Parts: sequence; C-alpha cells; structure tokens
Amino acid sequence: MKQAFRILPALIVIGILFSNTFAITWFDKEFTCPIDNEKNTFKVIGSYGSYIYSYPSKYQWLFFPSTDSPTFYICKKCHLATYMWDFDKLPKEKIPELKKLLAGIQFSRSFDKYTDVPVHERLEIMEKVYAVLDKDDDWWGTFYRVEGYHYGKAGEAARAAEARKKSLEIVQKQLKSDKNDIAKKLLYYISASLKHFLSDDKGALEDLQKGLETKYEEKDGKPEEMKNAEEGINSRIKEYIERIKSEANKPRMFDKYTRDEH
Ligand SMILES: [Zn+2]
Repeated sequence: MKQAFRILPALIVIGILFSNTFAITWFDKEFTCPIDNEKNTFKVIGSYGSYIYSYPSKYQWLFFPSTDSPTFYICKKCHLATYMWDFDKLPKEKIPELKKLLAGIQFSRSFDKYTDVPVHERLEIMEKVYAVLDKDDDWWGTFYRVEGYHYGKAGEAARAAEARKKSLEIVQKQLKSDKNDIAKKLLYYISASLKHFLSDDKGALEDLQKGLETKYEEKDGKPEEMKNAEEGINSRIKEYIERIKSEANKPRMFDKYTRDEH
C-alpha cells in the first residue's frame, strides 16, 4: 500500500484532466488458502480507470479497490481474511500463529460466495489477522479509515465513528512526526476528513486551511510532478471546504449512500 501513496498525486491530476473509458471489471481466480490448503474462488481486478479518483470516497481519502467488496478475501473453511494482495503472500513464519488465532475465532456464517459476507465482518477478522503481522502506524491509520468507510456504508454509524476515532488518533500522531511515508499536506486532508465524518466541522476546516498552507512534498519528487500534485490537492481542499460550508452537500450526509458507482 505504501507504493500507492507515492503514485497517487500524479494520478489525481490525470483523473482531472482526462476522462477514460475503462470500466471496473473483476474476474474469478482460484486461490489456495495458506492455512488449510482450501481452494477458494476469489475475484481479481480486470480493469479500472482513473475516474475512481473522483468518486465520493475521495472525501475520506479512500479509493478503489479498498472501497469495493471483492477486495477483501475470506477463506470459506478457516475464515482467514486479508486484503486481496496479501492472501497468498503471508510470511511463512507467521502461519502457525495465524492457525491458532483462526481456530479461536467464532464465525458461524457459511457462504458460497465470499462477497455475500458483509465487508465489515471480513474486516473484523482482518483486524485480528493483521495484529499478528507487525504492521506500522501508516498501515493501521489507513485500515481503520477503510473500516470506518465500510461501517458507514452499511449504516453502522456508531461503529464507523469508533473506527474513525482510532484512525484520527494515529493521524494526529503522524502529524507530529517527521518520519511518515505520507506527505503532511495529505495528512491534513485525511485528518480533516475524519473530523468532518465525526461531525467536528470546525476542526475539519482548520485542518483543511493548514493543508492549503502546507507545501506538497515527496522524497525525491520531481518538481513538475510536485507542482501538479500541489495544484490537484489544493483544488480538492477548496472543494471540500465549500461542501462542508454548504447546507445540503456535506460529504458525511452521504456516508451510508457512498456507492462507488456514483
Ligand atoms: Zn483457509
């Protein structure tokens, strides 16, 4: 996921300048579970376009595929749940610990299609699985934001707020540190978005203002790319400020209805 943060700014600008016609498509692929060798049919991405960067999930700084249900794999037998890109790449030395963990998880739902399991139920298992995998603050900050998004989409407002508070706590810590993989300007955007979805508009507007005043920087970033990213993010921030100040278009009002296809 770290790589995604680095390529994003360039894509933000591309998304604004060009529309494109690649629809989001998925196709089936067989995977063998690393825990119990069970064969599972999961979906893998066929195609998508840069329009995903203008979907409403941008107001939570989340983008396809983490906004989409097929992204979260779960084995139908042992219930190992991971992001799609991790399922068959788990560190071998962690398998015994994961086996033990999964044996202790109560999961009574049986299913043919893994996408029939609500995303937030898969995320709840993932939270336990990744606790074994030594993930850093960047990772957990994003994970809780993803969890907040999917609870919100499912209409689980209290649990969405709980996840967003955890994410916000991590982002606040990152804003005080100089050792992040994410640019500070983006951290202000993320912090503002979490505050807005937690109904703290005053705090959100303050963070967006700080975001506007913070220069976009990436390690070894090319000047032209940095300039484009700066402009792209500034225009997003200005739009966000306008929507928070509006009566009928506050992004959090559409939390439950934030569908990728709109
Ligand atoms: Zn399994």
